[in-house]
Amino acid sequence: MDLFSKNRALLGDDTVDIIASSNITIVGCGGTGCSTLLFLLRLGAKRFTLIDFDRITDSNLNRQIFYDKLDIGLFKTDVLSKKIEKDFDLDSLLFHKEKIVKENIDLIIKDNIIFDCTDNLRTKFLLNSFVCNNDEKVLFHSGVDRFNGQVMTIRKDTACLDCFLKRPDNETDKLNIITPVAMTSVLQTQLFLDYITGFMEKNNMIFFDLNSPISIDRVKIEKNKNCITCRSYDEDNSKQRKT
Ligand SMILES: [Zn+2]
Repeated sequence: MDLFSKNRALLGDDTVDIIASSNITIVGCGGTGCSTLLFLLRLGAKRFTLIDFDRITDSNLNRQIFYDKLDIGLFKTDVLSKKIEKDFDLDSLLFHKEKIVKENIDLIIKDNIIFDCTDNLRTKFLLNSFVCNNDEKVLFHSGVDRFNGQVMTIRKDTACLDCFLKRPDNETDKLNIITPVAMTSVLQTQLFLDYITGFMEKNNMIFFDLNSPISIDRVKIEKNKNCITCRSYDEDNSKQRKT
């Protein structure tokens, strides 16, 4: 019995094999992180590193689909490890209960495929800088705010968050979020599929708004030549061209 026979019929054996052998890090195991993890597992991914320092609270249960009342007070990573190891055939599973900061990000994130499922801008910009300084890494960025969401693929050679967003002075991460996390995760997972099948779109942000009337838009993001984060990539390339 092949659990992924329908995936193979739609995507082909090669793509399904690439998914199964991909080493994937998910940063943030809350609403978006849970949904993205579930979609990736159902897609056939088998090698994960999950990062979250938080414990489960009652207010998480409206959207963080792996958790239930009996899990309140437990670490999200501990609960996820038990649940997904029981239900899915995994090849590799690592957890970190640490907050990602500049000083430890190199030590914790070894995988090249990274999903940003965090709810705070500080970590989003940190992950953004991390991939823009690493040749092999790719970031599937996501952001959710009330009924709106956004996703984008970021690599060293693409536009990045610092190209068009102002870094915040203060963090405000306690938003009222319900349905958009699943929508965000669907789009984020599709960006991953596009990436591994060679259809990655560079320099595009996908925005959706679930307020009536529902809308989804693709917005071109220009790479900013003066960007504090990804400008160095252009400088490296121009140096190489001169030599
Ligand atoms: Zn940039």
